[in-house]
Amino acid sequence: MSDCIFCKIAAGEIPCRKVYEDDDVLAFHDIHPVAPVHFMIIPKAHVASLAECGEDHRDVLGKILLLAPKLAVEQGLTDGFRTVINTGRGGGQEVFHLHVHIIGGAGPRPL
Ligand code: 5GP
Ligand code: ZN
Repeated sequence: MSDCIFCKIAAGEIPCRKVYEDDDVLAFHDIHPVAPVHFMIIPKAHVASLAECGEDHRDVLGKILLLAPKLAVEQGLTDGFRTVINTGRGGGQEVFHLHVHIIGGAGPRPL
């Protein structure tokens, strides 16, 4: 997706503050953090949102969710964290490349 900002970040064409990278996924800090720790985990291969995922995405979705607690602890979130996936305009999604927000360090808060 040539006009997708997260594809460009995944390709190294736009800089980011990287948290983790492997062949399939990238984690990087949100440019506008809503808490002391706020990063996102994305699949490198473009998929617009959770609503567009199918069986082909099973492995990468599992990988992202299993990475979340490991990366959260590495980022200092030893007491827990929030995971947020905004899906579609009605779900508040602004960047249409699937991403899982990992947010923490600001104490508990209601959904
Ligand atoms: P959404 O509302 O789609 O779930 O969240 C998109 C997130 O991407 C927002 O929190 C926003 O701050 C972040 N974001 C948008 N553009 C960039 C960018 O170029 N770099 C980084 N690191 N984060 C971005
Ligand atoms: Zn993309």
